[in-house]
Amino acid sequence: MQYKVTLDRDTCIGTHSCTAEAPKYFRKADDGKVDLFNATFNEEDDVWELTLDDATDLLDLQNAEDGCPVDAIEVEELS
Ligand code: SF4
Repeated sequence: MQYKVTLDRDTCIGTHSCTAEAPKYFRKADDGKVDLFNATFNEEDDVWELTLDDATDLLDLQNAEDGCPVDAIEVEELS
């Protein structure tokens, strides 16, 4: 099973709960927001995306998704 993690940096307000929940993936950036490590930018949707090949870190990422106060993070299963 593959998973896709999406970060909408325009929506992010820099509360950094995601960096506590999933520090392997979310890193504080110089502008006060966060970067999604190793993600690529999807110009069409204006978001950063990262595809995972397994569920090893899924719980951490779902906790980051649930804890984001502005819903800037999305974790979804890919078929
Ligand atoms: S939890 Fe949401 S608002 Fe806070 S830094 Fe992470 S992505 Fe941004």
